[in-house]
Amino acid sequence: MELLRPSSLDDLNGGLMIHGGTEVVPLLRDGILKADTLVDIRGIVPRGVKGNRIGVGTTLAELEGSTAIPEALREACRLAASPQLRNMSSIGGNLLQSTRCWYWRLKYPCHLHGGDRCHAREGEHREHAIFANDYCASAHPSDVAAALLALDARLHTTKRELPIADLYRLPDEADRHVTTLEPGEVILELELPAVEASVYLKAMDRQRWAFPQVGVAAARVAGEVRLGLAGVAPIPWLLTGPEALDAATPLPRTAWKVDVARALVRRALDRL
Ligand SMILES: Cc1cc2nc3c(=O)[nH]c(=O)nc-3n(C[C@H](O)[C@H](O)[C@H](O)COP(=O)(O)OP(=O)(O)OC[C@H]3O[C@@H](n4cnc5c(N)ncnc54)[C@H](O)[C@@H]3O)c2cc1C
Ligand code: SF4
Repeated sequence: MELLRPSSLDDLNGGLMIHGGTEVVPLLRDGILKADTLVDIRGIVPRGVKGNRIGVGTTLAELEGSTAIPEALREACRLAASPQLRNMSSIGGNLLQSTRCWYWRLKYPCHLHGGDRCHAREGEHREHAIFANDYCASAHPSDVAAALLALDARLHTTKRELPIADLYRLPDEADRHVTTLEPGEVILELELPAVEASVYLKAMDRQRWAFPQVGVAAARVAGEVRLGLAGVAPIPWLLTGPEALDAATPLPRTAWKVDVARALVRRALDRL
């Protein structure tokens, strides 16, 4: 396999982009991703916090210690993964991580692998979704994306500027992708609005180094309260309000997540 280290965005010409590699390397090792060329983008995407902009090369470790970003984002970074992983993990890569669904990781021929069924719906799904789980019941694992959704962040890429919600899409028979990123499109920066207050709460199976069973970010932005949830749908989930949890469609063994989400939403709004 070839490893390229381009010196500018103009030099990009195909290949699989890699930043910290905490997601790419295990997927290559397990044969889920395949590539002849890896393109290390660490030297060519922005890194660091400047005013209300965050370079996507900034690591979660740098962000968890930053006083220049809203509390919800800082806390989402602090509660993600382990210290070693946070040192390597870029915030851009975090937004694009794949599902942790065990069937998908074990290469079952499910819908997201181009197959004709969702094995989790019929099989083991304790950690799966409670919203939008008809076609794929995976639960989006990014704490950071839930926080950015509540914060109403915008993304700047090499091709467009978009609200973070538009980075994601629910998979269906016609298109099984869960993001709208085009081939070769590079995310460059995140832009945050003025945030009045924010909080992130996370339920985990362990107190440390665990993906969110349910993560709830709440933020007050321009007088409006926004709620972003992790671990409840195949994509980061914008909840219109606590009452929207009544519309959840849990699977037989995910109903407990609705109760957890209800409790965390209540606590997050109290804290806000
Ligand atoms: C054991 C473990 C536990 C974890 N726990 C949590 C957790 O609790 N909460 C949580 O939120 N996350 C968790 N993570 C996810 C972790 O935070 C991500 O793996 C990490 O942030 C990815 O960043 P990276 O720089 O290593 O990405 P890489 O592995 O380098 O890349 C990931 C993907 O993003 C693409 N990519 C990277 N940067 C760009 C860019 N700028 N533009 C376009 N495409 C890009 C790559 O091509 C690849 O598809 C965990 C990961 C592991 C392995
Ligand atoms: S939940 Fe999604 S990723 Fe998991 S088996 Fe079903 S279709 Fe595949």
